Amino acid sequence: MKSIISQFALVVLSFCVSYSLAAQDEKPLVVATASIFADMAQNIAGDEVRIVSVVPIGGDPHTYEPTPSDAQLIAKADLILKNGLTFEGWLSELIENSGTKADVKLITEGIVPIGSQTYANSSDPHAWMDASNGLKYIENVKDALVKLLPDFKEQFEFNYGVYRLQLEEMDTYIQTEINKIPAEQRVLITSHDAFQYFGRRYGVRLESVLGTSTDAQVQTSDMKRLVKVIKETGVPSVFVESTINPKLLEQLAEDNGVSIGGQLYSDSIGDKDSPAPSYWDMLKHNTDTIVKALSAEKKAVVVEEGEGGATSWLLWGILGLLLIGGFFVVARQM
Ligand SMILES: [Zn+2]
Repeated sequence: MKSIISQFALVVLSFCVSYSLAAQDEKPLVVATASIFADMAQNIAGDEVRIVSVVPIGGDPHTYEPTPSDAQLIAKADLILKNGLTFEGWLSELIENSGTKADVKLITEGIVPIGSQTYANSSDPHAWMDASNGLKYIENVKDALVKLLPDFKEQFEFNYGVYRLQLEEMDTYIQTEINKIPAEQRVLITSHDAFQYFGRRYGVRLESVLGTSTDAQVQTSDMKRLVKVIKETGVPSVFVESTINPKLLEQLAEDNGVSIGGQLYSDSIGDKDSPAPSYWDMLKHNTDTIVKALSAEKKAVVVEEGEGGATSWLLWGILGLLLIGGFFVVARQM
């Protein structure tokens, strides 16, 4: 009897699981190229769609190599959200080969791009790092979602309205916080050039080892340039990024007596247990980390060494005088 009941329970359970999976499958599939954009869509669409990011959390979208399962995902998609501005060089081929019928929405539409400093006729893709651009992103994402599911227009507009207010407040928060850093120390040194939009909006000078993409080779001249910047500005910290190997920056910090100010999130949000599990959290975490590290006293260690140096010169001086004095005393007695 017991086994009949448990078998029945198993059948009911498997029915429920397959039913809920089928329900998931029935929902429209929204594919975002990176986790930041998937999070934006999630905030507006809630549970009404299934949202998947091609590049997983912590992955590097610049150098990503799509897998066969990505091609299947794109083929099944109802809507594709892409950044453009040379961020996802791998996407066009993936779309072509998959034969997808999905709408492809460029979510940087209406944003004034910054030209790449490294490559001619190329743009810096990291426009989301400026929260006021973030407002444009979420408007584009909302429009695409409403077009996909017009019946949910009211719900999506409402969620978008709430989200918009949160990002507007974040934009003000970032500026207020950045203003607390002593003006001459508003210099951000990172692994790759992901913060140009952030710097343009909030008034921070940017320097990085790599250019706007991470697939470039590190040049000795780049390292020399950064050493010069550290020396000239006396900036107290440099920063590593969650999607890039930190070794180079750690070496730079060690060689120049500056600290690692913390880990910044630029091309991906963090996982659930990280301090940046969403786009909003990412902006806040980056700002708080930057402000805390760059507000630190300018090269405190060096100043202490300088004082130590002065003290020891004074001691040597007194010792020298005592020796000369002693010599004269001895000489007079002779
Ligand atoms: Zn990047």
